[in-house]
Amino acid sequence: MDIGFIGLGNMGFHMARRLVEAGNRVVVFDTRREAIDRLVALGAEPAGSVREVADRVETVMASLPTPDIVFAVAAGKGGLIEGNRMRRFVDLSTTGAVMANRIFETLGARDIVQIDSPVSGGVNGAEKGTLAVMVSGPRAEVTAIEPALKVIGKVFFIGERPGAGQTMKLCNNFLSATAMAATSEAMVMGVKAGLDPRIMLDVINAGSGRNTATEDKFPKRVLPGTFNLGFTSGLMMKDVGLALSEAKALGVPMDIAEAVARALQLACEEIGPDKDVTTVVQPIERRAGVAVRAPGNKP
Ligand code: NAD
Repeated sequence: MDIGFIGLGNMGFHMARRLVEAGNRVVVFDTRREAIDRLVALGAEPAGSVREVADRVETVMASLPTPDIVFAVAAGKGGLIEGNRMRRFVDLSTTGAVMANRIFETLGARDIVQIDSPVSGGVNGAEKGTLAVMVSGPRAEVTAIEPALKVIGKVFFIGERPGAGQTMKLCNNFLSATAMAATSEAMVMGVKAGLDPRIMLDVINAGSGRNTATEDKFPKRVLPGTFNLGFTSGLMMKDVGLALSEAKALGVPMDIAEAVARALQLACEEIGPDKDVTTVVQPIERRAGVAVRAPGNKP
């Protein structure tokens, strides 16, 4: 299949690489030249602009940071919408249902189908092709691109309504962020009381407090002090913010999401929005005067 791919960052690099390795012709673009070169070295074809990608292939995928950037790339001046070949826009980014609908409408006016297809499973999942792929859009269009989506992960058809996949993704990331924030508080509490963080994780993972932070983020990124999951606090803040505004529009109370957003906001302000989301534990550690570390723990 001929595929365009825009946004070759932490997630996009691996997804595009897997598509190349699976034998697809992949035309790539990113605002960072080195990101393009890295993919070209693996067999991808370079493009000089967003629009050029849409001039060369019918199906364009994107893995971009924020909803505004996705809209600008898809439908802004010099965007994909101006290309004369593209028929399908597959958005692998997390943009929320409101933006997915806006892009669906805007591109639809030019006979281009928007398919939302956010992913979960982190950089590790992108590397191995084990992401959860949450796809929504017209069934026949989804079927046409399914072989390519299967290269990046397990495909779940969420529904035909534009934005349905995005809502699914926001529910998932709200839970993932909550696990990280709540586990941070529990681990700092235990360490301050004198417990060994390794024993704490062993107990929790054998018990009912087990979650993605206790199974993966704490043993592999926080205890060794590497903080290198590959997903920033700023991007997680965006996701929880999108979940909150969507819940508000639906009339669903989300007190817990608000508390999680505050923990993320603090990490963004004190540690930095470009730092790894696992640094959410650090403002709590600072206030408690302890650190949840065990340097010998294998990353
Ligand atoms: P990233 O910042 O590492 O990568 C984004 C890439 O887009 C960068 O290479 C950047 O240079 C490029 N870019 C930015 N603006 C551009 C433009 N106008 N035109 C072309 N390229 C542009 O982000 P990421 O962590 O790979 O995340 C990408 C998306 O996937 C986000 O929406 C994020 O929420 C979502 N996501 C991330 C993870 C994760 O673990 N990192 C997991 C699931 C979903």
